[in-house]
This record gives sequence, C-alpha cells and structure tokens, in this order.
Amino acid sequence: MNANLYLTLRQGFPANLDAIAIETDQGLRYSWRDIERGSAMLANWLDSLDLPAGSRIAAHVDKSVEAMLLYLATLRSGHVFLPLNPTYQSAELSYFIGNAEPAVVVCTPANFGWVSKLAFQQGTRYVVTLDDQRGGSLLERAAHHSDQHTPMSRRPEDLAAILYTSGTTGRSKGAMLSHANLASNALMLKDYWGWVPGDVLLHTLPIFHVHGLFIAIHAALLNGSTMLWHSKFEPQRVLADMPRATVFMGVPTFYTRLLAQPGLNAQLCSGMRLFISGSAPMLVDTFSQWQVRTGHTVLERYGMSETLMLTSNPYAADERFQGQSQRVGGSVGFPLPGVTLRIANAQGQAVALHEVGSIQVKGPNVFGGYWRMPEKTAQEFTHDGFFITGDMGTLDERGYVRIVGRDKDLIISGGLNVYPAEIEDALNQLPGVLESAVVGMPHPDFGEVGCAFVLAKPGALLEPAALLLALKGQLAGFKVPKVCKLLDELPRNAMGKVQKNVLRQMV
Ligand code: AMP
Repeated sequence: MNANLYLTLRQGFPANLDAIAIETDQGLRYSWRDIERGSAMLANWLDSLDLPAGSRIAAHVDKSVEAMLLYLATLRSGHVFLPLNPTYQSAELSYFIGNAEPAVVVCTPANFGWVSKLAFQQGTRYVVTLDDQRGGSLLERAAHHSDQHTPMSRRPEDLAAILYTSGTTGRSKGAMLSHANLASNALMLKDYWGWVPGDVLLHTLPIFHVHGLFIAIHAALLNGSTMLWHSKFEPQRVLADMPRATVFMGVPTFYTRLLAQPGLNAQLCSGMRLFISGSAPMLVDTFSQWQVRTGHTVLERYGMSETLMLTSNPYAADERFQGQSQRVGGSVGFPLPGVTLRIANAQGQAVALHEVGSIQVKGPNVFGGYWRMPEKTAQEFTHDGFFITGDMGTLDERGYVRIVGRDKDLIISGGLNVYPAEIEDALNQLPGVLESAVVGMPHPDFGEVGCAFVLAKPGALLEPAALLLALKGQLAGFKVPKVCKLLDELPRNAMGKVQKNVLRQMV
C-alpha cells in the first residue's frame, strides 16, 4: 500500500473540488482543485529534476500558500521537506545546508544572491526563488508542467520532513519525521479535537514550524476545512476574521496580544468552537482572562518537533480518564491516544504522583532520530525505547500532565534541584508582576543560584529586593533567586518561547 502522506490528506478534500480551500488576507481564493493541481505541477517539476528519492527540498521563504503547495509537492514526489525560518542569516543557513545537503533550495528573490552562492558552494544543484506574491522562478518552472500527478509510492517509515530544532540549548538537530509519524498524529488529532464538517481554521502561525505547518494545515486538509490564511499574526486582522472562523491555533503570545485588543469579546467569538494554545507555556492568568473575556476555555496542548503532539487537555469527556472533560489552566492535559507517556527518574522508573521527573514518550508519532547524528539519537532514547523529551514534568492522580521546564534549565543550588517554573509561578502571583523567567547563574558557594528576570504590569512600580523578600515568605530559602532584574521585555523566539540561553548570557 502506498503510505504517501499526501494520499491520506487528499482523502479529506471535499467531493466538490470547486469549494474554497483557502482564502488569504490579500483577498485570494484557492479552491481544492487549485491545491490539487498546483501541488501536482510543482511535483512534476521536482520529478523532472530526476533526483534520487528522499532528496531534501529546503524552503527558506516567507509564508505563502505556494510555499504550502511546495510542501505538498515534496510529499507527492517522494522527497523530504526542509522548512527553514526565513529570518535565518548566512551562518545559520550555512549550517543547515551543510548538514542536510538539500538538492533543491527555494529562497526569496531578495535573498537569491547570498543564498545561491552559499548553497552551490555546499553542493546544492538547484536554487530557485519564491516570494509571497506568487513571483519567482519556482512557479515559472512549474508552469510548464502537467497538473496531473500520481504520488510516488512511499513506505510508512520513509522520511517526509526534517525539522531542525530551535537549538536554544545547543547545536540545532534535524528531527526526521516519517509519513507514518505525520499521518498518525494528524488522524488522531482530527478525532480528539472533534473536527466537524463546516469547521473553518483561522491560520496565522508561521509555516516553518511543526505547529503551523503540520498540526494546523494537516487538520484543515484532512477535514476538508477552509483556511482563512493570514501571512502573519496581526491582532486586528484576527479579530476581523474571528466571526467567520470556528478554530484558532496560537502560541501564548498571540493570546496575550489579542487580550490587549479592546474589541475582543464574547460576541465576536460566539461562532468559535475551539481555541488551541501550545509551543510554549500559557500563563494561568492568560487562560483565566480568556475565559472571562470570551466565554471560551483555551485547550492547551504540548508537543515538539521530534514527536508532534504528545498531550492535550480534553476537547470532550475523555473515557480513558474517567470521562473527565475539564481543561485545566497550567496543565497540558492527558497523553493523547496512542501515546505512552511516563514521568521517570534517571533510572527510567516512574516517579510518584506530583513528583518531578523526566517526561519520556513512545508512540507512532515519535520520530526516527536526528539526521546524521546517530550518537545524539542513541543518547536521547532509553534502553527500553522511550524518547527522552528533555522536558521535566509531573502527573496528578487525575492523569493531567504539568510541565515544569526543560531539564537543561534545571538549577542545582547547593546540590538541591530548583525548578524554574515553580519560582516563576510564585513570582507571577506577586502584585504588580506581569511575567517572569528564572535562570541559573554560577555561584562560588552553591555552584549555581537563581537569577530572576521580571516584567512589571503597566503602571506598577516594582522593587527587586522587595520581590525577593516576598518570595522568602513562600518558598524554601534555597529556591529563592539571589538576584532579580527588571526587564521591559523577555527575549523570545519566533514561536513565543522565552530564550533562556539569551537570559543566561545576560547574567
Ligand atoms: P519545538 O520543537 O520548537 O516545538 O519545541 C518543543 C518544546 O516546546 C517542548 O519540548 C516544550 O519544552 C515546549 N512546549 C511546547 N508546548 C508547550 C506547552 N503547552 N507548555 C509548555 N511547554 C511547551
């Protein structure tokens, strides 16, 4: 059987291929037939290059529907899609191209000069261009090809994509995802999140990352759902399109920016079925404010490039967990169907409920390893085959998972473990504190101590020494940071994750 992911996604297209699949913020409309034909033409162009199956096709381009079609075409032609953040500069791109050795690099016309030079030097055979206005040599070449294409036969374990991890804790690694990894996760989420005919997805995420490219797009295609496609997240535009949508997926910063809009209210969101958040922790305060302002409870889920989605708060009553249906703020919910999750100690044994341990997982969604890094891959799997996510968490008696941070962010002070999330939670509850981030800093006596970075709520005047004093009344002394600094903003990456490596450099 042909396990090509495109065929799985294609089955979700509606019978009427003239219906609207995508409507963009620039007023363009793409029918399902356009998706089918456009990706066929691009796939035929890729086929005409006569590349060995499994060649890497790198995309260093701005968000556009055509960039999504290139992804689908890569699947159809049996190659491996390599999305790259378009803001990467030459040193970063050089590393990815050297490591992945793509046969084809697609870049913006504006970057063609330096990208093509760098790619050709590293052995790439074809460099073509694509902008976000349907311009560039890629589409010109595809225009000469047929709009009919039979997807290449692929086995379930064949590679479909390589996603480079954001590398906030070291050199970026290429997570190898197969057709089966992607298909199994997409089909399961369609069911778990209760997709129904008529759902409309408001798509505002970037498409070089697992969240916007796989989780959002696969769901919409599999469900035959129209996407309202925004080239980037702009709160005003989101509000304007909200009444026409039913599902929204965002990172926590999207939600805080929407809350800052006076126009956000329950009336505007009355047609919405589901708000999903992930890629970084959502503050409980944001979760609660969203409920008050919109009448909707955000569904927070947790996943990563290496595993796709791992846990989710329930959409509806989950029979696997005593029929519980509550979405809990500060929790990432239950392990998803098919995912085996354990919270383990260094020996791989499950720790007691509420105790912090390493989150380890198994399932059809878990990647095959890091591209050309067998030793690194071996280190990240336990002897009994669990992937060590690098996240630390807890499990409660009801089955809800909570994340307390990355293991690399753990602070060991005087031999005792300090989990930054616990300190951040305590800080965030102090009057006048908007948000905080805690990192370790070297200390001659304790080895390491915490350093807290704090953002004040608008109009609040904070005094660092007073904040630390207030913490002393709430936490054991060894947990209280020794230094506290006020910031106007926390450094974040494109997915809204706080860059603790940047903060560590600052201390
Ligand atoms: P990425 O591979 O870029 O998607 O990053 C994955 C990492 O993001 C995970 O290992 C977690 O550390 C973090 N992450 C994703 N979703 C959540 C969430 N809902 N809450 C807390 N951390 C999250």
